[in-house]
Amino acid sequence: MVLLIKDEYPEKLFREDGKRLDGRGNLELRPIKIEIGVLKNADGSAYIEWGNNKIFAAVFGPREVHPHHLAKPDKGILRVFYRMATYSVWERKRPAPGRREKEISMIISDCLEPILFLELYPGTAFEIYIEVIDADGGTRCASTTAASLALADAGVPMRSLVTSLAVGKIDGELVVDLSGIEDKAGDADLPIAITWYNDEISLLQFDGVMDLEEMDKILSFAKDAASKIYDMQKAALKKKYLTIQEDVLKQQSGGDK
Ligand code: ADP
Repeated sequence: MVLLIKDEYPEKLFREDGKRLDGRGNLELRPIKIEIGVLKNADGSAYIEWGNNKIFAAVFGPREVHPHHLAKPDKGILRVFYRMATYSVWERKRPAPGRREKEISMIISDCLEPILFLELYPGTAFEIYIEVIDADGGTRCASTTAASLALADAGVPMRSLVTSLAVGKIDGELVVDLSGIEDKAGDADLPIAITWYNDEISLLQFDGVMDLEEMDKILSFAKDAASKIYDMQKAALKKKYLTIQEDVLKQQSGGDK
């Protein structure tokens, strides 16, 4: 599925056949592909392709805090650096991190902090570097989802994974997983994140207009869609460990000969 509309917004966000512009139904997710442990120098990493988004997340830590004055004597700290590459959007994005990237880094950090046991790591930092190399709507959500997997890959003790996606309203209809054009030209956009250990929403942003009844419905659609993504996250982690197990078994059987 490739649909990248540049600077002009279409009049309608649904086609004649009732499908969304990229051919999806209202409650259908974009295709998602996840790989774990893709970067050799990071303690943990994940790569996610989510529709046209392509994102790497790399985790380091627990490690010494630089600059030292940021260290806390009673707990570890979590630092998130979300960056969009200059070539990740159709318009050249300034290379220096802007206000949007700083805000998104903070949001992702707030979503992930509750799942960590930072009190066990005084004086140290966990750092998560997120590079968006292709962007098409919902990058903060895809980044949060990938970052929680990179933490798991790093072997960091966690209460659970986190899943995030954007839901909202376009041309008066409720939809899940907004694409870039739906995010910009739609009526409402709600990025949300769910922490699975307590089944709670740890992020809810809201941009647009929606009544309370719609809000109730969209949150329940969001939960259903998030649980499908959660299954994909678990499957991606299992795949990595099955590959390791196969490699170990192969080595062992080679060693026995
Ligand atoms: P999110 O990616 O989390 O939805 P935004 O709502 O801020 O965050 O952005 C929506 C989409 O707009 C992004 O995914 C990206 O495709 C596009 N976008 C964001 N920043 C820029 C930019 N500086 N230039 C061009 N497009 C951008």
